[in-house]
Amino acid sequence: MLTMSLIKNIVVAGGTHGNERTGVRLVEKWMEHPECYSSCCPSAKVELVLSNPEAVRLNRRYRDHDLNRAFSQVCLDMSAEPEEYEFRRARELNRIYGLKGTGTKTDLLLDVHNTGANMGLCLILSARDPFTMKASAVLTQEFKDAWIYYQPEERSMSPYFGTVAKADVCIEIGPQQHGTLDARLFEESESLVKRYLELADEWNRGELQKRAPIQVEVFTQLRDLGYPKAWAGAPIEAMIHPDLLGRDFGELKKGDKLFRSFDGKDILYQGEADGRESVWPIFINEPAYYEKDIAMSLTVRTEEMW
Ligand SMILES: [Zn+2]
Repeated sequence: MLTMSLIKNIVVAGGTHGNERTGVRLVEKWMEHPECYSSCCPSAKVELVLSNPEAVRLNRRYRDHDLNRAFSQVCLDMSAEPEEYEFRRARELNRIYGLKGTGTKTDLLLDVHNTGANMGLCLILSARDPFTMKASAVLTQEFKDAWIYYQPEERSMSPYFGTVAKADVCIEIGPQQHGTLDARLFEESESLVKRYLELADEWNRGELQKRAPIQVEVFTQLRDLGYPKAWAGAPIEAMIHPDLLGRDFGELKKGDKLFRSFDGKDILYQGEADGRESVWPIFINEPAYYEKDIAMSLTVRTEEMW
């Protein structure tokens, strides 16, 4: 496993999506006041980056293309210089913090995002990496609203910024309206990111590895669910059901209310094609996913010892 070795280079990123202001302001604040984080992990070099400054300036998710969908190896390797700002920025970030692959100079990347969904402090792991698992498990004990979402990624194909590093956590904080700030969420997020840095230091001292295993709930990606519509590109025919709105990480069983049509009819969850009758939806009604035709992401819940 990759991070059995020391974590020497850490990147804390904000503004990968320009209108997700918690990460933007956290990085800007720490750039101005390095004393806020400089003592958290003396055993590593910690760098800060505002990933998409152009989108931050516009207070939009992106300018030309979603930056957090621009880091697949295919995108990074295109021979022609891309015209879209975000594809050029992705290459630049990869040159500075990568190169993506086993020889990358970044050991750990913490990418701070916001969601409009009621997801609390959602810790998204892209791999079963020993440090990110152990540290995230500790944080579920320390923060009452922290959740673990496991979204396995084939690293070279993955479009996410975090996969430029050997290990990464994408921290999704909500509910927060895009383009805005929320003081309570900002303060919790700052504490959470600092704790990751402190736990990285604990890891480098060989102490985190010695902690007893912690029982965690793990929500593993199953599939994205789109809105009902007659054909691809048609207007959506229903909204998230009011009984489901805000119920991220809750169980959705076959027969439960899922959508409400515009003429007031309930649309029920039918279960999965493979016969599975329970799922745990997250990113319910995420505003940024309307353009991607995602109404929510369905996950499967397990309990594990991490
Ligand atoms: Zn985001």
